[in-house]
Amino acid sequence: MSARIRCDKCSAESYYAGGTKIICPTCFASLEQQLNDRDKEYHELLMAVVRKHPGETRHETALRYIREAETAAALGPAKENSI
Ligand SMILES: [Zn+2]
Repeated sequence: MSARIRCDKCSAESYYAGGTKIICPTCFASLEQQLNDRDKEYHELLMAVVRKHPGETRHETALRYIREAETAAALGPAKENSI
């Protein structure tokens, strides 16, 4: 049974109701595209980790690199005395 409803994103009339979100096919397609783009960007980020570290996933290594760089940047020249 489908009721006449409106898309949560663009308010277009829609019959598609999945889960708690109501989304029209147009918004669904653009959302899907955004996810694909994000996937590609995420993959690019992971593949920037050339050397795989034992006991770490590429994701963990990338995260550690970023945190190390951010911490070093935040601490500035006094980084050797900290943490
Ligand atoms: Zn919509």
